[in-house]
Amino acid sequence: MTSPALYTSTRGRTRGVSFCEAALMGLATDGGLLLPEALPDVRGELSGWRELSYGALAEAVMRPFVGDGLSAATLSRLVSASYASFSHPEICPLQPVGPVHIMELFHGPTLAFKDVALQFLGQLFEEILGRSGAELNLLGATSGDTGSAAIAGVRGKAGIRIVVMHPHGRVSPIQERQMTTVLDDNVHNLAITGTFDDGQRVLKEIFNDLAFRERYHLGAVNSVNWVRVLAQMVYYFHAAFRMQERCGCERIQVCVPTGNFGDVFAGYLARRMGAPISRLVVATNENDILARFFATGVYARGEVRQTSSPSMDIQVASNFERYLYYRLGGDSEALVALLDGFARTGQLSLPGRDDDFAAGRASVGETAEAIRDTYRRHGYLLDPHTAVGVAVGQRFLRPDEPMVCLATAHPAKFPDAIREALGEDLARHPAIDGLRELPTRCTVIPATREAVQEFMRCHLA
Ligand SMILES: *Cc1c(COP(=O)(O)O)cnc(C)c1O
Repeated sequence: MTSPALYTSTRGRTRGVSFCEAALMGLATDGGLLLPEALPDVRGELSGWRELSYGALAEAVMRPFVGDGLSAATLSRLVSASYASFSHPEICPLQPVGPVHIMELFHGPTLAFKDVALQFLGQLFEEILGRSGAELNLLGATSGDTGSAAIAGVRGKAGIRIVVMHPHGRVSPIQERQMTTVLDDNVHNLAITGTFDDGQRVLKEIFNDLAFRERYHLGAVNSVNWVRVLAQMVYYFHAAFRMQERCGCERIQVCVPTGNFGDVFAGYLARRMGAPISRLVVATNENDILARFFATGVYARGEVRQTSSPSMDIQVASNFERYLYYRLGGDSEALVALLDGFARTGQLSLPGRDDDFAAGRASVGETAEAIRDTYRRHGYLLDPHTAVGVAVGQRFLRPDEPMVCLATAHPAKFPDAIREALGEDLARHPAIDGLRELPTRCTVIPATREAVQEFMRCHLA
């Protein structure tokens, strides 16, 4: 199938975007998020896909979304290169753990699920830029996992440089080392003397400086890039097939710990395409705007709270706009009106329920209890994000539909939460232990647009 795959913005003004353009664009030029103009119905393909390896399945699932943007051979090469960096032969293996099945998405280079998408995005960027001879300078602001996974995705890649700002002294020592021990010439870590919000502000100011943005070919590494959603869809199919093999079940449920609605939105699209998933369970920590939405139909902003699962300490879920677009039947005008209302009042509501979803929240105490209980009863260590999912997922078990809980990070990334729950430092991983010995490179810099732009002028020339 080599029809052109075209993308359109949720806000309706940016249309007819090709796959490769969508990959480079990130946020749509009209401020919306890109979505494919049509979703394939793959129910007729499922029996042929069931036996495929992870890599071959990834090619099959992505193919219709790529269109004529990449040849079949090129897509195959990029997928193989992306998952060669994973340390487990099954890429995303499934483990039975008590009443649930854990799908481990953390066998990539930074031990978090973001590697599944960002390893592929890095390969894709290099391919697209290599063809045109263009260059791309990625600029990001991170509070932890996204920065390290983005750096791991593009380190050493031709035609790409990356600058990542993190708040000086305010990310965990492990997350800081995962970023600053990468010494490739094309990687620049900036520790800004300010908070994560200061980083976000500087990022926005620099992207709004259009002359600078064009002159330096700036691109963003954020969670709204379509390619990240696409790469994440693959493991929902993979989970269903492995469980059908194991249990002879027809359909599965998948429980997803989330903050930005990025991961679970990929599951939503997989389900709409025909993946044998009966229901998606949205699991949030105490930042429960999404759990409240699925319970009440009201999406209302609250204060961000710090929890033991920091990568989900988010109040406004950037990918939620994509879901709203589908709920509104693709009506961009209605969507823009709804978002305007939300910007003014901090609240929006939708009538009706969506039975594709169940949702719940886990407090910090319940999360620690899930870590403790799962370890004591089943000898399996959960990271705090995965533990939020397991705590919530257990409330929604059904007899003939096994519950797959997505494990989004290796527990060794979050030793404090493990120590808090179990009183001992039980989570170890050689990739984390090894970081301590490595040299680092990082520039401490004031949290201002001028200082960061000056750094970029000197280093990206
Ligand atoms: C980013 C992240 C999440 C949340 O991902 P969403 O895109 O918000 O769904 C969950 N767990 C870990 C470990 C993460 O790094």
